[in-house]
Amino acid sequence: MERTLVLIKPDGVQRGLVGEIIKRFENTGLKIVGMKMVYADEKRASKHYTDDESWLKSVGEKTLKSAEKRGIKMDRTALEQGKWIRELLMSYLTMSPLVALVLEGNEAVGKVRLITGPTNPQEAPPGTIRGDFSVDSYQLGDQLERPIQNLIHASENPKEAEREIKVWFNKEELHFFKRVDEDLIYRKGKKE
Ligand code: GDP
Repeated sequence: MERTLVLIKPDGVQRGLVGEIIKRFENTGLKIVGMKMVYADEKRASKHYTDDESWLKSVGEKTLKSAEKRGIKMDRTALEQGKWIRELLMSYLTMSPLVALVLEGNEAVGKVRLITGPTNPQEAPPGTIRGDFSVDSYQLGDQLERPIQNLIHASENPKEAEREIKVWFNKEELHFFKRVDEDLIYRKGKKE
């Protein structure tokens, strides 16, 4: 059983997509074990988007690769690009309330990323949240000097999920209960 963190970012809340987004995760059988609306301050945003160098580089590299594909050569290093994106993300996340969720279930981290779709909505297939509800792109975000408005943050791997959940939730805010379909989802094949 895995847990993962989802943030419905300010653009998702402002566009009134909270219910639609939660429905898609909940319908799969994933269980909501934590949920709240939060006005993130600078401190919390910087805890969430750490200034860890390897993360900054990997975020920057994704952009440089995507720009290269479009025939654009950027004169920034991956680290510089990552730092620039982090600055944008901090002000984006603190702009208006967001909804934070902890979802639990079988391979929850990967499943949530799949339902969410790729970072760049222009590359996100129909059926994914970013594919269905956003027309944004790396190019547009960079041009307007704001992060790509892709509605959701979803933890990238179980280790990241564990760290991120602690940024947004206390132990007492995470709940234990049974969904009525759990016996069916997690039943054994053989009768005991
Ligand atoms: P995610 O895990 O799919 O959200 O993607 P990343 O962790 O790589 O990036 C974090 C967030 O930064 C993304 O969701 C975007 O909102 C934003 N972002 C990432 N790369 C870029 C970029 O090259 N340009 C702009 N404008 N925003 C970016």
